[in-house]
Amino acid sequence: MTQAADQLAEVQQQIADAKIRAKRSDDVCLIAISKTQTIDVIRPLIAAGQRHFGENRVQEAAEKWPALRGETPDITLHLVGQLQSNKAEEAVALFDAIHSVDRPSLIEALGRAVQKLGRSPQIFLQVNIGKEEQKGGCAATDIADLLTLCQQHGLNVQGLMAIPPADIEPSPFFALLDELAHRHNLPLRSMGMSSDYAAAVTLGATHVRVGTALFGARA
Ligand SMILES: *Cc1c(COP(=O)(O)O)cnc(C)c1O
Repeated sequence: MTQAADQLAEVQQQIADAKIRAKRSDDVCLIAISKTQTIDVIRPLIAAGQRHFGENRVQEAAEKWPALRGETPDITLHLVGQLQSNKAEEAVALFDAIHSVDRPSLIEALGRAVQKLGRSPQIFLQVNIGKEEQKGGCAATDIADLLTLCQQHGLNVQGLMAIPPADIEPSPFFALLDELAHRHNLPLRSMGMSSDYAAAVTLGATHVRVGTALFGARA
């Protein structure tokens, strides 16, 4: 096996083991976070069978993915980084899922883009689960209003996304995101990164976002 195939198999095994521990039989979507990675580094992972990828910047994704998708059309591309409203149209054109929707102005801009392009990416509302000043995401108490606004603007919201605070035990934050998703009747939970995706899966993650564990440390 190539190194990429090896790493992929290892992460898939960890996810499978976590599902067994949690007695889950539903699917967990592994998103390979390929930000900062070059096309040449991404290609072996595609060759190993990986199809879901995530980027954090619209511009970088626009430079890399049209070529890769030309080679492999069944790629699903996720945006996991903060999105400016003036890039909403480009994001709707490029991505199949957007995990970082967190405010009314962005919802309105995405609604206009969806209308104009006739393309409706899957939307996750990002929740600022640790109430951190510097982080994106809405307050848990704003979820209901933002969901209503998304409906009014024709957005296809299916889940919640969170990035727990660094350097503390993330499990309580995963459990909280799971509970919030239940409470708002949303089926999807995007949570868990390289250091904690197995814990996230045991606590209900439907999407894990894994970069370093698949590609090695970023430059
Ligand atoms: C970079 C990034 C990840 C992946 O982080 P790793 O620790 O490399 O797995 C996941 N989610 C978001 C939002 C990111 O920006």
